[in-house]
Amino acid sequence: MGSSSLLQQTTELLQELVRNAAVNEGTPESGHEHRQVRTLQRFFEGSGLDPVVVEPHPGRQSLIVRIEGTDPSAPSLALVGHTDVVPVEPAGWERDPFAAEIVDGVLWGRGAIDMLNLTAAYAVVTRAVALGAPGTARFRPRGDLVFAAVADEENGSRFGVGWLTEHRPDLIDVDYVLTESGGAPAGPLPSIGVMVGEKGGAGRSLRVHGAPGHGSAPWGARNASVIAAEAVSRIARFRGPTVITPQWREYAGALGLDADTAAALVDPDRFFEALPATGGLQGFAHASTHTTISPNVVRAGEKINVIPGEATVQLDIRVLPGVGPDEVEGYLREALGDLIEHIEIEGDWFGESSLSPTSTALFDVLRGAVRRAYPRAELLPMLGIGGTDGRFFRRRGIPAYGFGVLSETWDYGKFRTLFHGNNERIDLESLRLTVEALDQVVREFLGGDASGERRLASITEESS
Ligand SMILES: [Zn+2]
Repeated sequence: MGSSSLLQQTTELLQELVRNAAVNEGTPESGHEHRQVRTLQRFFEGSGLDPVVVEPHPGRQSLIVRIEGTDPSAPSLALVGHTDVVPVEPAGWERDPFAAEIVDGVLWGRGAIDMLNLTAAYAVVTRAVALGAPGTARFRPRGDLVFAAVADEENGSRFGVGWLTEHRPDLIDVDYVLTESGGAPAGPLPSIGVMVGEKGGAGRSLRVHGAPGHGSAPWGARNASVIAAEAVSRIARFRGPTVITPQWREYAGALGLDADTAAALVDPDRFFEALPATGGLQGFAHASTHTTISPNVVRAGEKINVIPGEATVQLDIRVLPGVGPDEVEGYLREALGDLIEHIEIEGDWFGESSLSPTSTALFDVLRGAVRRAYPRAELLPMLGIGGTDGRFFRRRGIPAYGFGVLSETWDYGKFRTLFHGNNERIDLESLRLTVEALDQVVREFLGGDASGERRLASITEESS
């Protein structure tokens, strides 16, 4: 089973996972991850593995496989891939988002980069370990290898890793985790992004109080829609403090920009002046250095001839390390200014940011695997600006990295655009680089029985 075969298996599995259209619309009835689990159960048939399936809510299945290592004291590793995808707006797509067509070496479809590509590669690598590779040595990991194909990551993981963490932690009990998302090259070396942490989140709503009245006499009315619109505008204009994290400092330094621009990007007083120079990375650069507040859901009014007395605005807030609920409240009050007299801030949900150390044995193994594809590459530890299942592990002190290896056609700007965007796709070269790197990481980190390997290898040589 050579590496081309790993690619072929990954491609075929990815196509099936895309075609299953496990779209998570944010409702308990959506997701349909049971289709993905069925596909994976068939995939693991005959491998000798016995996957466990959990179903916290009808249809919301996750599948977990554990290959026990030979040495209970050796560190264990989990490959955690979500199987749900976000909805599409088909009108914006050039191809059918759920057909998984391959055109000129590129596979198109929802989930191709977020993150069915990785979930497929994890499954292929896990099965390869279980089967051993015909014609080569059988690899027996010293530490446990866990593959978890999990539901509901795209809506907070309540039916996925969140549920497993609470109800079946035994299934995902490991020392290290790999998950989404990383692998985009940056700068000349290049530097390959590895997500070592991510921002935290807070959900808040603004309840806007006006006074109801007749739509025929708007002059002087306290129209909740109008107040809400002004609140949304103020929040959109609000800047908040610019914070240079160690990860952003490293990222800005790796971009290969001229010295002055690079210096300005890590200077809170000059950041906005240099921001346009980051081109397609502007949104990412801004979010990497700011606690962001995005007013995403606005509701007001019921009837065309009635001035609404109430409105609500839901805010998606992503916090930098060190920012707590009090700071969030402070930013909102500062942004809203005197409008606060018409507004109540509701909600108290808060999840703090999470960060894994890079001084681990696994991180070194990741670097080695990346250098097979890019011999001069450095790893670029990044702080993710969105959420992943990695946070559930990091918060329990388990290092979790977002890892992959993408081809030279990628940069982080393209990566961000295709995430949840139109025309999501991945080139097969990136799929190959990723599955080969993961295969190497698993074999090296879980350290096989070397003497057995040599013995088997010599037997194979004799017999061939
Ligand atoms: Zn994802």
